Amino acid sequence: MASGQSAVGQAKVDVAALPKWNTAQKTAGFSLAGFCVFSWLFVAQPSPTSLVAAKVGFQSALLGWYRGHARRLPWRESPSLYGTVVSEFMLQQTQIKTALPYFARWMEELPGFAALAVASEARVLKLWEGLGYYSRARNLHRLAREIAARPEPPRTPEAWQELPGVGPYTAAAITSIAFGAPAACVDGNVVRILARLTADGTEFRDSATAAKTFTLLAEALLPAQAPGDHNQAMMELGATVCLRQNPLCTVCPVLTFCAARREGDPVAYPHLTPKKIEQRAVTRVWCERRGSLLLHRAASSARRLASQHELPTAEQAGFNETQVAAGRLLATKKRSITRFQITESIYAVPAPHGKMGPDLVWVPRTKLEAITLSGPHRRWIGELLGTRSRAGG
Ligand code: SF4
Repeated sequence: MASGQSAVGQAKVDVAALPKWNTAQKTAGFSLAGFCVFSWLFVAQPSPTSLVAAKVGFQSALLGWYRGHARRLPWRESPSLYGTVVSEFMLQQTQIKTALPYFARWMEELPGFAALAVASEARVLKLWEGLGYYSRARNLHRLAREIAARPEPPRTPEAWQELPGVGPYTAAAITSIAFGAPAACVDGNVVRILARLTADGTEFRDSATAAKTFTLLAEALLPAQAPGDHNQAMMELGATVCLRQNPLCTVCPVLTFCAARREGDPVAYPHLTPKKIEQRAVTRVWCERRGSLLLHRAASSARRLASQHELPTAEQAGFNETQVAAGRLLATKKRSITRFQITESIYAVPAPHGKMGPDLVWVPRTKLEAITLSGPHRRWIGELLGTRSRAGG
C-alpha cells in the first residue's frame, strides 16, 4: 500500500469555511499547526476549530487504536488496488459480514481487473446474486474493462470519479488507501463521529447533505502520512465503537476530544430529519406449468435488479384483481427497501394463456439454481417449494 504526501494535512485550513467558527479565533487567523500547543484549552469547547487545533493528538490516538484493534479483513490483510476496489463496491450498500463470503468467492473466481474485464455479464451477476443493487456489479464490470484497457490505473480521486459507479466517497477511499492520496472519506459513520466530536446540533435533511457539510472538517483532520489508514480508522471507529444507538464511549480512543460525550448525550447527534416511512403492498403470482415456474426478468439496465429474476407481480403477468383473488394465498412476506416497508402477498394462480411479454420466462425447477434470482425471491421460492414437497405436492 503506497503512502503519499498530503497537501491537506500540512496546509492552513480555510477557517472561515469551517462550521461554527468562534469569532475571536477567526479574527486571530492563527496557524493551526502552531496552535496545537494550546489545544487543551480549546478541546474544552465544542467546535470544529478546537478539534482541528488538536488534530495531531487526535490523529495519533485514532491511528494507534486502529493499528492495535482493527478487525482482520481480507482486503486489509493482503491489500491490492483490485481488492480495495471490489471491497468498496460491495460495501456501498452491504454490511461487512454479508460481503465477506462474496468477496472471497469473487477474488477466487475473478482475481484481477483483467479476469473481470473478460468475464461475461451473466457470470458477474451470478457471483453478485444476493448482494442486491446489481448496478454495482455492472459498473464494477465496466470499470474493470476501462482499467484493463489503460496502461496504468488513474491515481487521483477526480480521475476515479470519471469511472463507472465511483462517487466522491468511493474515489476517496480507493485513492487514499491504494495511492496515499490526500482525500477524506465521509459517509454516515464519519458524519456521526464528527457530529459527536463537535456536538454539532445542525439539523440535516439527509445524510448526503450532512456528508457534504462535514467534508471540510474531515479533510482538515486528515494526516499527511498514511491518509488511507486514517480513513479506515474513522470507518472502523464508526462501525465498532461510535455506534448509532449505544456508543462505547468508555473504550473510545478519542474520548478526550469528544464534545458530545462531555455534554452527556452523544446519541442525540447527528440531527437528521427523520425519514418518512411509506407502506407499500405488492401482489405476486406463483404460476407453474409442466414443472416450470413463471418468473419475471428485470431489464439489464435496471439499477437495483439488473437481469435478476423474481416472481412476477400480478400486473407484470397480466392478471387482474379478480383473477388473483380467485387464487390461493401461499405466503405473505414483509421487507424494507430504503424508506419503503413492503408487504408482498404471493398467490397461486393458473398459468396465463396467450402470448407473454419478453420479460416473462418459464424456468424449469431443475434450472432455478443456475439462474440469477434476487436474494429474497430465492429464499421465498425455496421455502414454498420446500413446503410443498414436505406436503407431498
Ligand atoms: S466518545 Fe463516544 S460519542 Fe464520542 S466519538 Fe467516542 S464513541 Fe463516539
